Amino acid sequence: MKKVLPFTKIIATLGPATSTKERIFELASAGANLFRLNFSHGDKKMHEMNVKHIRAVEKKLGIPLGIICDMQGPKLRVGCFKNGSVTLENGQKFRLDMEKAFGDETRVTLPHKEIFAALKKGTYLLLNDGLIRLQVTSFGKDFAETTVISGGVLSDHKGVNVPGVTLPISALTSKDLKDLRSAIDLKTDWIALSFVQRPEDLIQARRIIKNNAAIITKIEKPAALNNLEKVVDLSDAVMVARGDLGVECPIEDLPSLQKHIVQICRSKGKPVIIATQMLESMIHNPTPTRAEVSDVATAVYDGVDCVMLSGETAVGEYPIMAVSMMRKIILHTEADPVYKKSMDVISLPPDHLIASAITSTIPTMSKVLNKLTCVVTYSLSGSTTLRVARARTGTSILNLTCDDRVIHRLTLAWGVYSIKTRMIKELNDVTPIACKAVLKNEMGEKGDEIIITAGMPLAEKGNTNVLHVAVI
Ligand code: PEP
Repeated sequence: MKKVLPFTKIIATLGPATSTKERIFELASAGANLFRLNFSHGDKKMHEMNVKHIRAVEKKLGIPLGIICDMQGPKLRVGCFKNGSVTLENGQKFRLDMEKAFGDETRVTLPHKEIFAALKKGTYLLLNDGLIRLQVTSFGKDFAETTVISGGVLSDHKGVNVPGVTLPISALTSKDLKDLRSAIDLKTDWIALSFVQRPEDLIQARRIIKNNAAIITKIEKPAALNNLEKVVDLSDAVMVARGDLGVECPIEDLPSLQKHIVQICRSKGKPVIIATQMLESMIHNPTPTRAEVSDVATAVYDGVDCVMLSGETAVGEYPIMAVSMMRKIILHTEADPVYKKSMDVISLPPDHLIASAITSTIPTMSKVLNKLTCVVTYSLSGSTTLRVARARTGTSILNLTCDDRVIHRLTLAWGVYSIKTRMIKELNDVTPIACKAVLKNEMGEKGDEIIITAGMPLAEKGNTNVLHVAVI
């Protein structure tokens, strides 16, 4: 029997609704491939417990599950109010300053010197996810006088965004530095960095993380968009973090930005994730809206590697149904002949590498071979497998490797399913091991064809140069 495996992977964010072993088991059984631990919430003990549960579930189910530790980053926030909140009216004056006193209708603390240093007359400040808009009329090194352009309720600790301004702050706060150490101690597979602005932010993070985890860059600042190619080059994967990006940029720009980021990541072979509000209404309803279903399907048609659930699984009333629904949408979309055609549409610029020449022929071969069931890669570092995934082969990819870290990291990659093997030294040994693994993983049947790619010599990393077609 051959299983139908989705190419597009699902990330489920854990939170109060799902931080138990039973719930994690249900989420994974419903189709979640990776779990996101959000370090903006919860403490070290809770994250430790979740990691323990995920690894136990993975053992029980016999399928690899990825773990992403998502750093809070330099999220800017106002202080507290005397009465917990105030209502700001359009046209009124409102002051932000560094004084410690509780806020009221006339002022509130903004304990971030860097913001005042970066202001100009006329700069907009967006508060509470963009619901409140202030315009700066004058400022000094520790205050800003503003006019309220769009008012509303502003309560304690609400977030502040300064769209279009590159703030002189690092993507790693002192909390992040502490959280990074915890994430590395937890042996996370991926670390997601929030509010990255410049390539230097990634260079600094990489120096600390080293090879202990792979890095996902969350694109949510316009400054990162200005350096997008370089930022993608320095990342192992990218997340289109539409929540904050939709506050920092005009919201109507989001669809085109999403497509642009996806195209760049796909052309560079970097896994790309679409995040936030994908099935938002399922936080409170058992079925999504038509628009949400269409949003998930659009991401799938665009050939992204992953789609992500946030509040839906962290605090929602229907977390398991949200994952099942996402899986259903993915499988239906991927079964559409239009999907297969849309994978061809993005032409990947030739990079003149032997490895790319080999992997880019696979989609054509998959059209010629009518019994092709999957592509098998033997990969020590995962780079051969990522190259195959970059080509959006039209069949699943079975990754054989002896490294658990590679197995866990590639849970994020389009179409990739992994099996641990012994270190293979002889090319002749790869074919029988590949055939056995395909049958064991129910990714093909006797008589099916498989394409095998690897690098010779087998013990060396990152040199894909062999392509072999075998019949199981
Ligand atoms: C986002 O802003 O879309 C996002 C994924 O980040 P967070 O959930 O950490 O706000």
